[in-house]
Amino acid sequence: MFFDTHAHLDDSDFDPIREQVIQRARSAGVVGIVVVGTTAVSSRRCVELARQYPDYLHAAVGIQPNYVAQAEADDWEKISEMILMPGVRAIGETGLDGYWDDSPMGLQQEYFVKHIELSVRSGRPLIIHMRDSCEEIIQTLRPFASRRRLVGVMHSFTGTWQQAQTLLDFGLYISFAGMVTFKKSNDLRDVARRVPADRLLVETDSPYLSPEPMRGKKPNEPERVLHTLRCLARVRGVTEQELARTTTANAKHLLGLGQCFRSSSNGY
Ligand SMILES: [Zn+2]
Repeated sequence: MFFDTHAHLDDSDFDPIREQVIQRARSAGVVGIVVVGTTAVSSRRCVELARQYPDYLHAAVGIQPNYVAQAEADDWEKISEMILMPGVRAIGETGLDGYWDDSPMGLQQEYFVKHIELSVRSGRPLIIHMRDSCEEIIQTLRPFASRRRLVGVMHSFTGTWQQAQTLLDFGLYISFAGMVTFKKSNDLRDVARRVPADRLLVETDSPYLSPEPMRGKKPNEPERVLHTLRCLARVRGVTEQELARTTTANAKHLLGLGQCFRSSSNGY
């Protein structure tokens, strides 16, 4: 029983094979998948997928940092409205990207803060993207974290143990994708070994970066989350079953599955 906490199943790569991909995930024991939006249009598609596969696909809505420069004037308003729709469980993906230069950093920051404020107001968890930006993300989150515990996940984490500790202190979960299985990722595996069991998540980030031993095979898909889980179980010295149980319980807790969200009227 696995939970893929990050997949872009709305991606056009999946158009001809989406139904089979979801069927394969079910057969492999994947009990839930978070389908993550990157623009207002993609977020809308994720909401639609969650409607088609209720209680299996869960939507996250947001504007990914590399797409904020192309956002239309009313896209943010659309995102804010979408969080109230059925099947929507998280806000994102958001964050900062220091690798690609599709969007100026100042504008990425502005949108990141909007997503954080929406999460604080609504109680919905944040899904945070990091790439060559972990320190800037920590600095942006810190003033919010000093007022209250944050709810969310650092997706496809690739930072240091020190950075992970700070983000854990803020209240966040740490999620690992295929990169942790790559031969050269010894440092990252060491971070993954040290993350407390009750804050650990797994994901595929489909259709990107298939884990070993499927590395290079495109598109990546949710059933392959088991390879990442297997790698983490090995480095942590626990059984796959135990880690699958823990990470699935963590995902359900983060997403508030099986419980009501707290009132959205709480300011901060
Ligand atoms: Zn993503």
